[in-house]
Amino acid sequence: MAGDFMLVDISSLRIHPGQTRDYELTAKLDDIIYGGERLSFDSPIHLQLNLTNIDHVIHVKGKIQADLQLKCARCISLFSYHLETEVHGEFHKEKNTETLNPEREDYVYFYSGNTIDLTDMVVENILLDFPMKVVCCEDCKGLCPICGTNLNEYQCNCHENDIDPRLAVLQKLVNTSTGKEG
Ligand SMILES: [Zn+2]
Ligand SMILES: [Zn+2]
Repeated sequence: MAGDFMLVDISSLRIHPGQTRDYELTAKLDDIIYGGERLSFDSPIHLQLNLTNIDHVIHVKGKIQADLQLKCARCISLFSYHLETEVHGEFHKEKNTETLNPEREDYVYFYSGNTIDLTDMVVENILLDFPMKVVCCEDCKGLCPICGTNLNEYQCNCHENDIDPRLAVLQKLVNTSTGKEG
């Protein structure tokens, strides 16, 4: 995976069970393809994490802040969406055994050596908390169903021409009568 790796040095932490450490890091994340849509980030992701070594398993918990570029479900324009979500995971030391469980449990990741790579955990946590439909603002007017104009930007004439049929009849009467007199 290109971009910055979200690597954390745990050389000291991993040999001291019971030890806990706080980390704060900022990293760029590649676009994520999710449900056929490309999710890109407006700015680097910010992570505030607490890592604890419990019986040689590194438990990670904390907070992710990210600005995603998303498409509004109503007006389909792109806007910046601020995502703040909790993150958690546990990193087990990778073992070279044949009994490797092919079905990894949720929130379980692996590390080897003195670093853990947070990328998978961060991406999975973002997607877990990801809203299916988002709108650019609460009162987004969306698109005109007739001409497709973005009603946040322009007011089209579609609704003005859509006169109540009873009024249309009156309008006609007025027109014909004035026509006769004139
Ligand atoms: Zn919108
Ligand atoms: Zn219209």
